[in-house]
Amino acid sequence: MTHRILILGGTTEARQLAAKLAMRPNSAITLSLAGRTESPVAQGVPIRSGGFGGADGLAVYLKEAGIDLLIDATHPYAARISANAAEAATRTGLPILALRRPAWEPAAGDRWTLVENVVEAVRALGNAPRKVFLAIGRQEAGAFEAAPQHRYLIRSVDPVEPKLALPDAIYLLARGPFPEADERALLEEHGIDAVVSKNSGGAASYGKIAAARALGIEVIMVRRPSLPAVPSAETVDQLAAKVDHALEPAAERGV
Ligand code: NAP
Repeated sequence: MTHRILILGGTTEARQLAAKLAMRPNSAITLSLAGRTESPVAQGVPIRSGGFGGADGLAVYLKEAGIDLLIDATHPYAARISANAAEAATRTGLPILALRRPAWEPAAGDRWTLVENVVEAVRALGNAPRKVFLAIGRQEAGAFEAAPQHRYLIRSVDPVEPKLALPDAIYLLARGPFPEADERALLEEHGIDAVVSKNSGGAASYGKIAAARALGIEVIMVRRPSLPAVPSAETVDQLAAKVDHALEPAAERGV
């Protein structure tokens, strides 16, 4: 019997997990992307792209596609799809597993200012002009139009279009991983004195945090949103090890 597994992705780990589970005997893996990135990197397994239409739409998809296991491997700040996934799993009675990267913890020498959201991050920059490295992705960058007194270096995978109403902004297109040495050189080249970051966790985007620490630069860290409590693992290998159990009939899983 073939086990159909839907992985909600958009992260490096989702891609790695899909590749790993594709080697599992009698498994059919589909990776789902939101469809925001113009040219996503090759994922190596069949892909579907675009939203489902909320928890309702996802529940319908899960039934129609005959999915046996749902895996939420989305980014820790993608709170809506994670909530929808938990809700759709409850409604359909399907097992769900989540891949949740541990958050970064501040280390000695870090100068973190913790804020609840991007709007608070704008306020935390203060009134005096600063040189800001904006590394939160393009979707929420628009909030910084409220603080046009700063100079911005804005990095994203896809172009910020239309350009923001900011008189002094440089746009940088790049896809991680970003090694610490490169990040340090970038911060120095642009004379950055504040980094705005999400607490993404993982190694690929930690370089800027380590570089900011080394240079004594403040990091305005947007806290993680709260996510639904579902069975989870912190790494691709740990999650893959839970798949067999999750696919057992509900009675054997103790549900
Ligand atoms: P979000 O706010 O949680 O989701 C917004 C809507 O986008 C969802 O309600 C869903 O639409 C659709 N969606 C999101 N992820 C999807 C997926 N994997 N497959 C199909 N539909 C999906 O998410 P977001 O913060 O906009 O992030 C979008 C995608 O980018 C996610 O897949 C995430 O893993 C990735 N990503 C996000 C960040 C970040 O900082 N937020 C960073 C890196 C990568 P429907 O309700 O219509 O189903």
